[in-house]
Amino acid sequence: MKKWTLQRKWTYASAISIFLSFLMMCIILYFSLYNWMLISEKKIAQNTLNELVSFFESKGPIISIQDIQRNKTLLNQLVNQEQSVRILNADGIEVLRINDVSPFPNFSPEILQEFQRERVDGQLLFHKVAEVDFGLFTGYVEISHSLENFSHLMDYIFIAMVIFALIALFLSALIGYSLSSILLKPLKELRNEMQEAKRTKFSKEVKFQYVTKDEIGELLTIYKELMNEVSETITRQDEFIQNVSHELRTPIQVVEGHLALLNRWGKNEREVLDESLDISLTEVRKMKLLIDEMLKLAKNERTDELLESLLYEIVLSLQNKYRILEPETIIEFAGDEKVKVAVPATTLEQIIRNLIENAIKYNENKPHIYVKVTNNELKTIITIMDNGVGIPENLLPKIFDRFFTVDEARTKPNGGSGLGLSIVKSLVSEYKGSILVESNEKGTKFDIIFPEFNKRI
Ligand code: ADP
Repeated sequence: MKKWTLQRKWTYASAISIFLSFLMMCIILYFSLYNWMLISEKKIAQNTLNELVSFFESKGPIISIQDIQRNKTLLNQLVNQEQSVRILNADGIEVLRINDVSPFPNFSPEILQEFQRERVDGQLLFHKVAEVDFGLFTGYVEISHSLENFSHLMDYIFIAMVIFALIALFLSALIGYSLSSILLKPLKELRNEMQEAKRTKFSKEVKFQYVTKDEIGELLTIYKELMNEVSETITRQDEFIQNVSHELRTPIQVVEGHLALLNRWGKNEREVLDESLDISLTEVRKMKLLIDEMLKLAKNERTDELLESLLYEIVLSLQNKYRILEPETIIEFAGDEKVKVAVPATTLEQIIRNLIENAIKYNENKPHIYVKVTNNELKTIITIMDNGVGIPENLLPKIFDRFFTVDEARTKPNGGSGLGLSIVKSLVSEYKGSILVESNEKGTKFDIIFPEFNKRI
């Protein structure tokens, strides 16, 4: 079955309506022309008849049929080429015929007030009989006005109109098709973009070539804005899920480690039981806070209240954590233990933890990490230095990109997803800070700089 697309319907509708209006115009024109020409033919016939009668009257009150016959040449000039005239006596016998081009019907002495349209011997004609009384001759004048030329002309006009109507039908279909193509082009673009959005799961940017500012243009702009919002939301949701799973990995490992410890020693040793339960509970609470913080970050809902945290306390907590997870690792703190940073504790711990985690992961020696803090009235600098494998200089600008990993072979055993540093960078920027990196084959150094609003106790 044929698919009735909008374009097909539109083409048919406009073609039919244009064609019907043209046809109606043709019909009206044809019949008006027909009537107008018929009336003028009748006038011509009537004029000839009137001129003949006036001619006879001008020849005096007494005129014989012989006189009339003598004036035949003159009479011939009065009669039109498409007409025949005959004069009949009172008995209906023809006495004179002028111009024998058009046939007459069988004579009947009935006087006709109006011209009769008749078909005689296959010819269409106007016909009228008038009574004449010339003194010496009484009888009838009968005129037959051929309508053959008129009907030929009307046939020509009819054929011309049919040809025009067919051309109009073709043109109107063509116009309808092109018009619908122009009007439906942006809608087709919209349909294609929708299919593409469905196929690419909203990841592709919506773009339209149609830029006209009309109703359809507005519709496309609204759709584009809507899709960009949807795609942004989806990206943010994806990022949130990826970040949360990345960030929960270490706390879960800590809890897991302590639960294993409890399982082995905690049943008998009260001290291990208390400590491990304490640490596990703290970790679980921190995880809750971490999820809340990341949710807020994902929704752009950061509270403006100034939350401060002590860097030293955070480093202490991380030292405890890694004592269980990575007993070989040494984390050293240097600098003023009382320096506060205007970043919530959960977030600051996230930043430092990610950097320490990398320092351990990308290290072929026994990891030795320094966390140093320096500050003045203008800024606070937190430096994290390690003795790891280092990062090639040409790759340094890329390491903060999402999913960027330096060397697949090097990171695989540790399961790196390339998210850690991008999370660190976005958290640091969230609190108006900046991060710098220097690296060589002996190790890597990250400097996190938070500006003025940091203060000391
Ligand atoms: P991941 O979450 O997979 O660790 P990151 O975004 O944290 O990824 O790091 C990106 C890349 O930078 C890692 O693949 C790693 O090769 C390199 N890198 C990051 N930190 C260090 C470091 N301290 N020492 C050496 N290489 C590092």
